[in-house]
Amino acid sequence: MSLPEPQPGIMAIKPYRGGAHSAEGVERVITLSANESPLGPSPKAVAAVRAMADHAHRYPDGGATALREALAAHYGLEADRIICSNGSDELISLLCAAYVGPGDEIVMSRHGFLMYPIAATVCGGKVVMAPENELTANVDALIAAVSDRTRICFLANPNNPTGTMLPSDEVARLRDGLPERVLLVIDAAYAEYVTRNDYSAGMDLVARHDNVIMTRTFSKIYGLAGLRIGWAYGAPGVIEVLHRVRGPFNTNAVAQAAAIAALADVAHVDAARSHNDIWRPWLEREFRALGLEVTPSVGNFLLVHFPGGDKGAQAADAFLVKRGILLRDMQAYGFDHALRVTVGLEEENRALVAALADFLGAKG
Ligand SMILES: *Cc1c(COP(=O)(O)O)cnc(C)c1O
Repeated sequence: MSLPEPQPGIMAIKPYRGGAHSAEGVERVITLSANESPLGPSPKAVAAVRAMADHAHRYPDGGATALREALAAHYGLEADRIICSNGSDELISLLCAAYVGPGDEIVMSRHGFLMYPIAATVCGGKVVMAPENELTANVDALIAAVSDRTRICFLANPNNPTGTMLPSDEVARLRDGLPERVLLVIDAAYAEYVTRNDYSAGMDLVARHDNVIMTRTFSKIYGLAGLRIGWAYGAPGVIEVLHRVRGPFNTNAVAQAAAIAALADVAHVDAARSHNDIWRPWLEREFRALGLEVTPSVGNFLLVHFPGGDKGAQAADAFLVKRGILLRDMQAYGFDHALRVTVGLEEENRALVAALADFLGAKG
């Protein structure tokens, strides 16, 4: 008797593990593990969710027309060049399904987002990782990693989990160094948090080139991670391909309505950014004062490096979990001595720093 067998490579995939939201024996946890917004969703988005409940029997608009038009108006883009998705993770999968076949390759940075290798492997693709400079994507290394089989180059900008970014001229140089047949995917999930003026989310590159697509999400600064809604802006040829691959109702009606309301609540987004601008540098300073190394970040999270041994990252994680503070373990990304910390509310940040001071001060 032989059981149904998955496609080659599937069983080699390590399942993606999201950040923890609960700890055994702890009633109230502090969740700093998933880069969610500590301010939560806009009250206007919450009202839109409630209002949609009465219409739950209706199919959504499969084309997410109103949301695409709202995004187009907000950013000054063409609605036809936008596609909406069930979180931006779905876009990563759709892009691989559309462009990556068995034996094809994707190129990504060594510590790039883990959904890229997972989605590519599902399609039988091979993953080529380019080395980095100081935990930052290296344009020359990415270009050098391209072969005849390369179909997609994935760049998270800013990158998760490192928090580092490439300035817009470097991203343009990457695009120019890739063959036209290679699709450059710029994953700008944290774009709204970046305040540096040499940064661009990539819309300008998409407007100029047919082999660039930018992906965005409502999961991060908009605080709608639970609703699963993302979008992409790309060349008409690429968007048309993705529409053929996506499910007919891939984005649900509640998420569409909430996203439209969230997009319009500019004050809420500004508040989330301002909060981050205060507390990310504060956390960075406090961690450094405790003797921990921190990778400089432009996002709403920090990669914090621990000394080894009894003051190592896993020991710190276990210590913090007992106090109900949840960070993100980084071993899946190849960081055995680091944890990722999402910027939280003031009291959460203060509780974390106090707990870490206890951990580092405690005798091993
Ligand atoms: C969180 C994250 C995403 C996925 O976001 P969803 O829209 O919730 O699927 C994509 N890329 C990066 C780099 C992320 O950190």
